[in-house]
Amino acid sequence: TEEVLRNTEKLVFAGRLAVSIAHEVRNPLTVVKGLLQYAGGKLAHHDLVMSELERMNLIVGEFMILGKPQAAQFKEESCVVILDEVLRIFGIQAAMNGLAITTEMRGDKPILCDRNQIKQVFLNILRNAQEAMPYGGKIQIELDVREDRQHIRFTDEGSGMSEEVQKRLGEPFLTTKPDGNGLGLMIVRKIIAAHQGTMSVESRIGEGTSVELCLP
Ligand code: ADP
Ligand code: MG
Repeated sequence: TEEVLRNTEKLVFAGRLAVSIAHEVRNPLTVVKGLLQYAGGKLAHHDLVMSELERMNLIVGEFMILGKPQAAQFKEESCVVILDEVLRIFGIQAAMNGLAITTEMRGDKPILCDRNQIKQVFLNILRNAQEAMPYGGKIQIELDVREDRQHIRFTDEGSGMSEEVQKRLGEPFLTTKPDGNGLGLMIVRKIIAAHQGTMSVESRIGEGTSVELCLP
């Protein structure tokens, strides 16, 4: 148990370090982005530099979320509306990659939540689904209300996960992807816990994965 404790301490420390580095990096990043925008299209490879900067911004943002102990702004919101917004951005990019997204909205109950954090949750789950189907496929999203709770289920027909990966899901830095950071589901876990919700995952290698969220 002492070793477990020591490892936990190390993890907490590493987390804090990551968050403070993220904060430090964000300011100069914002300045560089601003300058680049100001320079307009005059710079060679402007769009590429801009999109790489945006990528850095996203990564930094993920690390910063790790440091937030609790959701900042809880309001009554509809998951259907939030999901709609996420799909407006994600849907276009997904369609270009051969993904067909279907949604079945059978139940919509306003939940007390931080809208941006829930957006991030949906996006992280959808990104994983997309990455599990590099040659395209279907993502099914189902919304139900059961026992006065909002259930949202994302089902893909991608690569699936081994039992080993499933057991360790939500651990920081757990990734099977060459360029993954293994933070996506950890962030999902953290946000869902801050909303008193639960997440459950069912997956079978070669068949696909279902991620179900339940939010009070
Ligand atoms: P990352 O996407 O950066 O690898 P995540 O925390 O988002 O980190 O996911 C952790 C791991 O869980 C992934 O590397 C992958 O192995 C597995 N995983 C998550 N979602 C799916 C999915 N929909 N299908 C298959 N594997 C998944
Ligand atoms: Mg991910």
